[in-house]
Amino acid sequence: MDIVAFDDPIMTARALVLHDLESTGVADAQAVSLLEESVSQRAWWLEQWPAGREFVVGLVAQDVQDGLLESAGRWPLCTACEDATHALYVEPDLGGPDPTWVCEEAGVVVAPVGGL
Ligand SMILES: [Zn+2]
Repeated sequence: MDIVAFDDPIMTARALVLHDLESTGVADAQAVSLLEESVSQRAWWLEQWPAGREFVVGLVAQDVQDGLLESAGRWPLCTACEDATHALYVEPDLGGPDPTWVCEEAGVVVAPVGGL
């Protein structure tokens, strides 16, 4: 995908998480504003700690997930299990390179962040 080729990790994170919001049908104004808020906070954070660039995608995904849980509910819902009402989680949990969405119930990787 072209979007992962962005040199700016903040723009990459924004593009990947926006893709997942759109592909799961929840990219409304509220979700996008959660994303924008996270992106601006993480941009500041990255200025303080440039070595964190590999962590940004996973952290932005978790920020948006946390924000949606408080407002709209669980996101993203598991697509690996039948009749799933549980959410996927970002691995590695505290941020790291190549973050993925995993189902903790089935113990499977469902998609990379940005690949839902
Ligand atoms: Zn599942």
